[in-house]
Amino acid sequence: MDLLEYQAKDLFREMGIPVLPSQRIESPKDIKGLKIPYPVVLKSQVYIGGRGRVGGVRFAENTIDAIAAAQTIFNLPIMGEYPRVLLAEAKYDADREFYLAVVLNRSIRRPVLLGSQHGGVDVQAAIDQMQHVIVDQEFSPYFARRLCLKMGLQGNLIESVSAILEKMYRLFIQKDLDLVEINPLGVSPTGEVMALDGKVTVNDEARQRHPELSTLLDLEEQGQLVAFHEGPVTLDTAGQIGILCNGAGLTMSTMDQVFQAGGKPVCFLNIGTETHWDSSASTLQERLAQGLETMAQMKSVKVLLINLISGLVTCDQTAQVIVDFLKRRIRPVSSLAERRPETRSSQMRLPQLVVRLVGDQGDRARLLLEEQQVTLVEHLDEAIAQAVALAQMLPGNS
Ligand code: GDP
Ligand code: MN
Repeated sequence: MDLLEYQAKDLFREMGIPVLPSQRIESPKDIKGLKIPYPVVLKSQVYIGGRGRVGGVRFAENTIDAIAAAQTIFNLPIMGEYPRVLLAEAKYDADREFYLAVVLNRSIRRPVLLGSQHGGVDVQAAIDQMQHVIVDQEFSPYFARRLCLKMGLQGNLIESVSAILEKMYRLFIQKDLDLVEINPLGVSPTGEVMALDGKVTVNDEARQRHPELSTLLDLEEQGQLVAFHEGPVTLDTAGQIGILCNGAGLTMSTMDQVFQAGGKPVCFLNIGTETHWDSSASTLQERLAQGLETMAQMKSVKVLLINLISGLVTCDQTAQVIVDFLKRRIRPVSSLAERRPETRSSQMRLPQLVVRLVGDQGDRARLLLEEQQVTLVEHLDEAIAQAVALAQMLPGNS
């Protein structure tokens, strides 16, 4: 389970990771009692990422602007989720934004340090430049330094970023976490660093051992919804293109580009990033399998555009999930239950697939998909053009 940003930042503060002075806002009128000097940034406290892109993070220069911004954010659902509180923070003057994370790699059961000099809202840039160091022995500052060097950091930044990574690691171990992420770590023109956004995922099995975290999570369970677990978000019932991506930023930008190319998205589904787990579907592959089934059952989805970017999970692993899904859908009818027309028709429903996968082992993924007559598309532009063209060729669309 995830913590909200302000809860993650409370843990950061305790651990000595630099965070800005901040205040919780429970209603727009709380803005009048703000103790932080202007300009401030107001941030929607929802569980989903990608708030920046959709207007969930706003800057304000004075009280009037801040009240208006708070009203807007309280009324803005992000992937279906309304915030119950906002976080007001001093504005930080960052001229660069890094990505840092400590994450448990489930397949090797070791923590991994991740870092990129291109953090912030552009998910793709962060992923393209992502470096990692596996903590395969007892932790020492050496692992953190090695990541900094791989990231290409120089001068004082090597020391300051290493120090933050060490503290993130300590928090990760102390609280038995699945993920500690800072994105972005703001770097000021003078080289100071500041955690501007934070994400912490608590390991479900470790909850009993950490009553302090359980209280935070209990708050969360009282009527909170985690948007993407609820399924696809429907946009325009006249559309035909379903979009399935991993990560909120990627989902939003893919949808945006489909619109721009003249396509009509009917719904989108964000299956979550690699570093997002919950108890019901713990790996990216499982969430992909689930997502494919859900999207295929939506009658309105005639074309399914799959756009996945992964670093730890390889493309052939994700391709295999797609192959298994296709095989399930076209397998011979073998049981009585499957002969029932209603089960059969839903089982046979298969949207036309356009697949783009970014990551390692692309060639193996290509071969796997080709066996199922699915072409792996390399560039996003091309994938979008194909999806739009397929949708236009559908009956009733000429
Ligand atoms: P996310 O989009 O949900 O990941 O939300 P973030 O908290 O990462 O905010 C999105 C973007 O807003 C960040 O990448 C920053 O560029 C910017 N941002 C957030 N907080 C601050 C801040 O305190 N100061 C400045 N200058 N920028 C901020
Ligand atoms: Mn962020």
